[in-house]
Amino acid sequence: MRCYTCTRLSYAIICKDCKDTLLGTTMGTRHIGSLDVISFYKYSHIESLLLTKHKPEGYRIYKALAEMTMKPFIEEFIESDDRIVYIIGVDEYVSGGYAHVAVLSKAMQTPQSIPLFASLLAQNRVRYAGKSLAFRRHHARDFKYTGKSHIDAILIDDIITTGTTLKEAEKVLIASGVNVLFALTLADVLE
Ligand SMILES: [Zn+2]
Repeated sequence: MRCYTCTRLSYAIICKDCKDTLLGTTMGTRHIGSLDVISFYKYSHIESLLLTKHKPEGYRIYKALAEMTMKPFIEEFIESDDRIVYIIGVDEYVSGGYAHVAVLSKAMQTPQSIPLFASLLAQNRVRYAGKSLAFRRHHARDFKYTGKSHIDAILIDDIITTGTTLKEAEKVLIASGVNVLFALTLADVLE
C-alpha cells in the first residue's frame, strides 16, 4: 500500500518518515472557562489525516495518530498519579463502521486509565462544521451521560473549534458527579 501522507510505498498507513515528522507535535493548551484543553497539533497541519474519519482508512489513521500522541501522554500521566482515571470520549457514535473518537480512547487504555466507551452521546447530532458560535449555542448537542459517577475523568475529542462542545460535555459530566481533570484533543483549529 501507499503512505496516506506522502503516497510513497509503505507497509504502514503512515510511513516512518511521515511518522517522524508527526512526532514533533505542537502542543498547546486552551482555557475554556474552567476547562483546560490540551491539543497535540494545529488543525491545518494534519487536516488531510483528520478528514479520513468515517472513511475506511480513517480507523488506522486515527489509531496511528493516537498512538503517537494520546498513548504516550497517558502513560506519562499515570506514572506521576496513582489514582484510577476514566477516559470519556465525546459522542463515540459509530459512523462508517467505527467511532473515530473511540479509537482515540482505546489507545489510552491501561490498567489505570479505563475508557467508558459510548457513555457520553449527543441526543442532537447537528453538524457544526462551518457554523457560527451563535448557531452552535442555539443548537446544543444535548449530551446524555450513562457512565459511572464519583470518578476522575479525562475528556477526549478529535478537534477543538470554538470549545462549545467540550464545554457542554463538561457541564453534563459535572452534573453527573464526574470530576473532569482536563480535556485532550488531537488538533486545535485556532492557529
Ligand atoms: Zn509518508
